[in-house]
Amino acid sequence: MSRFLLIGPPGAGKGTQATLLAQAYSIPAISTGDIFRANVKAETPLGVEAKGFMDRGEYVPDSLTNDLVRDRLAQQDALAGFLLDGYPRTRDQVLELDDILGSDNNELDSVILLKADPDELVRRLLNRAKEQGRADDTEEVIRHRQTVYLDQTAPLIEIYSARGIVVEIDGLGQVGEVTERILNALTARGLSPAI
Ligand code: AMP
Repeated sequence: MSRFLLIGPPGAGKGTQATLLAQAYSIPAISTGDIFRANVKAETPLGVEAKGFMDRGEYVPDSLTNDLVRDRLAQQDALAGFLLDGYPRTRDQVLELDDILGSDNNELDSVILLKADPDELVRRLLNRAKEQGRADDTEEVIRHRQTVYLDQTAPLIEIYSARGIVVEIDGLGQVGEVTERILNALTARGLSPAI
């Protein structure tokens, strides 16, 4: 059973690492950002409501986010472990996740914090904007997303540090190098992919 959360500022490479780690541990990577984007694309009611917040670089309200995660974590493939990418992002979402997992006695094993230099992140995101054309990758929105992260999500690190489950990883470097660092750090904590 591996229950992980990947946390870090926008552009730190969470999505890429989430996919690779999920493969290594044979668990689903659950990204609220991806779920919202799929809903926006399909123009579902959830997508229509979420779009404005996302385009402005704001967080989607908890009333739309929490139930989505509760439902996703209840699905069969997540019962033997999961890697959350981009949730929780606020203190209230931490409490909500505690509630979701607590009801199954399923606490997080590890919170992987991907660290990176803010200027490098903005540069990366501007590049991604050119390559993928995401609506929330304009320079103004990118800077706003960094501020929202610092205000609302960075404080979560303290909450999880107090629980002794944060693993800090340098997020700069080649994708494979960063994955290696994460796998080594988790293995050192007895959370190797082979278990
Ligand atoms: P991401 O792909 O994780 O950067 O997420 C893209 C956008 O989706 C964010 O800027 C938010 O607008 C929204 N989003 C993703 N996860 C959450 C969350 N846990 N709470 C609120 N909004 C979220």
